[in-house]
Amino acid sequence: MTDLIKLTAAEIAAKIASGEVTAVQVTEAHLARIEAVDEKVHAFLHVDREGALAQAREVDAKRERGEKLGPLAGVPLALKDIFTTKGIPTTVGSKILEGWIPPYDATLTRKLKEADVVILGKTNMDEFAMGSSTENSAYGPTGNPWDLTKIPGGSGGGSSAALASYEAPLAIGTDTGGSIRQPAAVTGTVGVKPTYGAVSRYGMVAFSSSLDQGGPCARTVLDAALLHEAIAGHDPLDSTSIDAPVPPVVEAARNGDVKGMRVGVVKQFRGEGYQAGVLQRFDESVELLKELGAEVVEVDCPSFDLALAAYYLIAPSECSSNLARFDAMRYGLRVGDDGTKSAEEVTALTREAGFGDEVKRRVILGTYALSSGYYDAYYGSAQKVRTLITRDFEKAFGEGGVDVLISPTTPTTAFPIGERADDPMAMYLADLCTIPTNLAGNAAMSLPCGLAPEDGMPVGLQIIAPAMADDRLYRVGAAVEAAFNARWGHPLLEEAPSL
Ligand code: GLN
Repeated sequence: MTDLIKLTAAEIAAKIASGEVTAVQVTEAHLARIEAVDEKVHAFLHVDREGALAQAREVDAKRERGEKLGPLAGVPLALKDIFTTKGIPTTVGSKILEGWIPPYDATLTRKLKEADVVILGKTNMDEFAMGSSTENSAYGPTGNPWDLTKIPGGSGGGSSAALASYEAPLAIGTDTGGSIRQPAAVTGTVGVKPTYGAVSRYGMVAFSSSLDQGGPCARTVLDAALLHEAIAGHDPLDSTSIDAPVPPVVEAARNGDVKGMRVGVVKQFRGEGYQAGVLQRFDESVELLKELGAEVVEVDCPSFDLALAAYYLIAPSECSSNLARFDAMRYGLRVGDDGTKSAEEVTALTREAGFGDEVKRRVILGTYALSSGYYDAYYGSAQKVRTLITRDFEKAFGEGGVDVLISPTTPTTAFPIGERADDPMAMYLADLCTIPTNLAGNAAMSLPCGLAPEDGMPVGLQIIAPAMADDRLYRVGAAVEAAFNARWGHPLLEEAPSL
């Protein structure tokens, strides 16, 4: 039974479809794993034992009735606690939503249910998805299964940790500046930020609406593609949802190949602040791509140097506006409502008690950047930089003729819990390589490319594709994954110390 937790999502679905195992057995094995290790890992904020088993029983009943099962039917999944789930708590890692039970499902939640994916529970995250370590969660940090004293990345550290600890074969993340890719990189898992607008934001608690993008997390490239296909697609309930067919991501993941492709190495993403072992594994990935038949060229993207600064004006500006809805009147926490205070006083007391330091820092920063006297100097300038970054991408994919760009996903491997907790700038640097993609709205993946020799922790390779060419990530990712697994003799995660 314990072997069930080591299977990929594709293998689990095949075994359920053939009747070799039942969805209930698979779900029970994962619930038992959560029970055994999650006290140490703390990937989950809420485990929906009964709901998961009910979903699994439904899948088994469908099979018995001879109904055709979908490609992920009966496969368990860990859902980031930023998506609304009808009847199940949704906290966004914040005290301000403690106790709130959403009356509706996010579109993504609904699609998962329609695909017969078994939702095990909701995963830990930095409050309102602001952070790179999951230490900003109001419910305590999550450990990295490779080394529980280190961070599992953030904001989606609960989802990445659930995969790396074999508590779930699939997970969902959201990526505003890197929160899918950076956790994937530091846990030796696979994470994809789809093209902006490819996966509905309806029912996904908003942080920075022009950047936020939900996406798949898994242990293999194919599993990520299967999940991508299940959650993507046009949604009339999201005004920025793209009304176009989903790129053929599963077909691409089944046909990994880089022969004849032109791969651009982003010149800006190395140098000061980059860990030696990260650059070593990245350089080996470049050599591997050449061996596999890709043409590798260096690409200059000068505006990327300004991406972090632009992001930390745009994201806080949008969050200061989005989080105004947490006013103590509509959802969750209400503090000081004793009949003697005005509505404004109750709102202020609730926000003081309900929001953590990082959220407050960003609301203040964003409100300042948007104030009338400073709007052009800060927000306006940041939007201009955003345009320049988009042009750098257009130039690389256009006249530069590259099919994909590559870089390390993160400058360093996982750092110790506590090391950057009181140093926001050091924390922000974790997303140096991932942020440009969010600002431009195109697609990117992180997948494992080895362990850093100096600390034995996983290193991530980032692949970046043009908007709506998400399938290229999977074609390149699958080729790289197969070549690395052949070289290592097994998937990287098998080297993680057992919990
Ligand atoms: N770490 C970045 C931030 O703190 C990105 C977060 C995210 O992608 N949600 O804003």
